Amino acid sequence: MRIDFHTHTTASDGALAPAELVARALAGDVQLLAITDHDTMLGSAAAARLYTHGAARMRLIPGVEFSCVWSGTTVHILGLGVDAAHPAMVGGLAQLVQAREARGQKISSRLEACGFGGALAGALCEAGESQLGRPHFARWLVAQGHVRDETEAFDKYLGQGRTGDVRAFWPQLAEVVRWIVAAGGVAVIAHPLQYRFTRLKLRRLVVDFVAAGGGCLEVLSGRQNADQVGRLAALAREFDLEVSVGSDFHRDSPYGPQVGVELPRLEGLRGVWERWMTAA
Ligand code: MN
Ligand code: MN
Ligand code: MN
Repeated sequence: MRIDFHTHTTASDGALAPAELVARALAGDVQLLAITDHDTMLGSAAAARLYTHGAARMRLIPGVEFSCVWSGTTVHILGLGVDAAHPAMVGGLAQLVQAREARGQKISSRLEACGFGGALAGALCEAGESQLGRPHFARWLVAQGHVRDETEAFDKYLGQGRTGDVRAFWPQLAEVVRWIVAAGGVAVIAHPLQYRFTRLKLRRLVVDFVAAGGGCLEVLSGRQNADQVGRLAALAREFDLEVSVGSDFHRDSPYGPQVGVELPRLEGLRGVWERWMTAA
């Protein structure tokens, strides 16, 4: 069985429109799909409007990927099965829009200090309907001829530790988990190994996450080896967490993952997907 509980569309920093992503998932024989754009449910909602699972073999699960702060680091928390209309979610998402705008202003003034005026207006143009993010500043820098390509934009100005790496505006982890749970969803720690925490620090994250009401760990995210999956599965077992899997698909790339993940065999673990399998 193939599912995917972590995907992006043009509503955030993905390359495919929600309709295109749905078509791609159907072509890939995906049976359960969650669109989890960064800090917005517009992609997920757009897909739900144009696709009703009653008519076909795939089921859509409402989703989002929140940015938040834990222990001074940006951590990503997925919300699966959340009700986008719940006041906790509406308020939370509005807070994130403001956070992104404030962050965009700060990135812009930092770039201005480097001699690149008008970055905010330019990046907002690049973003269009999408959530404003660093990739839009990167595209603007390329379009202005300040850098050769987006890679150089991140290497020089926007990547980790660079002047445009502004992170201070995200809500706290516990707050985001609270919104998700209040809105009837399950909170998932996204790509737990991407933060490059020590084993001890990762355990501390899980402890705080569970204390806040979090219940699920993403044990397979994009391409990972069996050893990494095993390590995360052990962590899920220790804390009695459900497990999730997803591609974290953003765009077609020869090296990147495709939409859809073959369910791994995970002895003694509860897949979060089981919540939506029987009621389909
Ligand atoms: Mn992304
Ligand atoms: Mn992420
Ligand atoms: Mn993601």
